Amino acid sequence: MATAIIGGGITGLVAALRLSAKGERPILFEKGELGGMIKSRVESGFTLELGPNVLVERPHIVALMKDLGLSSEVVYPSVDPYGQYVWFRNAPRKVPAGFGELIRSPLFPLSAKVCLPWQVVRPGVLAARSSDASILDFMSPVIGRQASKALLDPVLKGIYGGDVAELSARTIFPGLWEAGVAGQSVLGWMRSRKNRGKPRIFVVRGGISRIVAALGERLRDKAEVVAAAVTAVHSSGGRYELGSSDGRSWIVDRCLVTTAAGATSGFIGDISPALAAALPGIERATLTVAHLSVSRDQSLIKDAFGVLCPGGMPENFLGVMFNSQIFPHVAPPDRHLLTVVLGGAQAGDSPPDEEAIRNRVPGLLESLFGVRDACWIGSCTWRRAIPQLRVGHHALVEQLDECERSFPGLVFAGVDRGGVGVSDRIRLAEQSVEKLLAAAVSEGHGA
Ligand SMILES: Cc1cc2nc3c(=O)[nH]c(=O)nc-3n(C[C@H](O)[C@H](O)[C@H](O)COP(=O)(O)OP(=O)(O)OC[C@H]3O[C@@H](n4cnc5c(N)ncnc54)[C@H](O)[C@@H]3O)c2cc1C
Repeated sequence: MATAIIGGGITGLVAALRLSAKGERPILFEKGELGGMIKSRVESGFTLELGPNVLVERPHIVALMKDLGLSSEVVYPSVDPYGQYVWFRNAPRKVPAGFGELIRSPLFPLSAKVCLPWQVVRPGVLAARSSDASILDFMSPVIGRQASKALLDPVLKGIYGGDVAELSARTIFPGLWEAGVAGQSVLGWMRSRKNRGKPRIFVVRGGISRIVAALGERLRDKAEVVAAAVTAVHSSGGRYELGSSDGRSWIVDRCLVTTAAGATSGFIGDISPALAAALPGIERATLTVAHLSVSRDQSLIKDAFGVLCPGGMPENFLGVMFNSQIFPHVAPPDRHLLTVVLGGAQAGDSPPDEEAIRNRVPGLLESLFGVRDACWIGSCTWRRAIPQLRVGHHALVEQLDECERSFPGLVFAGVDRGGVGVSDRIRLAEQSVEKLLAAAVSEGHGA
């Protein structure tokens, strides 16, 4: 059977690998560079991540690293436990790692500290009052409004570049949302989770894009990689006809769409005009990643991986990572590597002027964190990159499900569903391949 995969980011590449393991030779369309948002560079002793900086250890990514022969290249933090900080009332404050730290933390007002033990065990505290809620409204009954804003807004800005008062609890915390619907307490939910505790983070020696390179190598003879954009998808007689920007057309039995909503809307109109109209409604945050270095003699916040910031910071400063403090190998012995992230949904679409941020960021690092003499290495802007999964987003996911039901063999696995982290993308790629194979079996085609 012929399968087309649209998009050669990590989702499309992993899907192609898993399909090829089933004896297929998928056709993978990529309009730009393989790897999508994953990009790394090694220069002058620094390992620079232009896209994702760290990966979260989950079973699917662990298995992938093993399959690609990269397990020995995984590097865990040299400091354990390391600290994560958020900017609150003009200073970096440690995110409490346990009850003792929480009691002393200024992030939680006295009232929240007093109520928390009861709220955590109280059944129904997360009970949904509507079909969705913002994370701020959803979490406030448990940890209070101040702590929800102080703690969760910077964390969500760090992941989505978005706002705690707008992002959807139902979409971003589906497990917790379901627990709320079932009337469970937070403690009950924590105890029912399969993988309890905080997952480890890791990086890849030589850069995360080594995963992309290894996937590309593996697929060399096992997939047909087409360096063109898909411009149209039509359904005809239970099969799919694709047009690509190089003027060619393709007939396939199945089609896996891994592109983000805006791109998908450009070629899905013939299949579903309603979906094509709805998809561009998802706003996407533009992010700028800037790398700087400082002397290792300087003391950074002790044992900290980084500081995440709430909205309203100068230059739309979203946070800084002190990469080499917990991953010493990413910088030369005498320098620290710092990664600054700017932008987010609040900043709008236009990329910042590189010259301006180059002049402003070192001064900001000094005034906010006392980091002196930061030297500029470079920056990279990702325009309209991270989807804003706002309250009500589940309605759009239901539209995608509906379209899949109407068009067997068509599966959507773009970044607008299933989580934005690389580990989430790998899991969704594998689940989507299972879906494609199951569709083939139920259609009587066999895999
Ligand atoms: C600055 C930044 C920091 C991040 N930090 C982290 C982090 O620390 N940890 C983490 O886990 N995740 C992080 N992420 C998120 C993570 O990198 C992404 O969610 C993930 O890489 C997305 O993979 P994907 O394959 O789903 O999508 P993409 O990487 O967007 O791939 C989709 C591909 O489709 C291609 N395409 C688009 N239209 C067409 C078309 N019509 N035809 C053919 N091809 C098309 C695109 O060129 C692209 O290559 C970060 C992202 C960014 C931008």
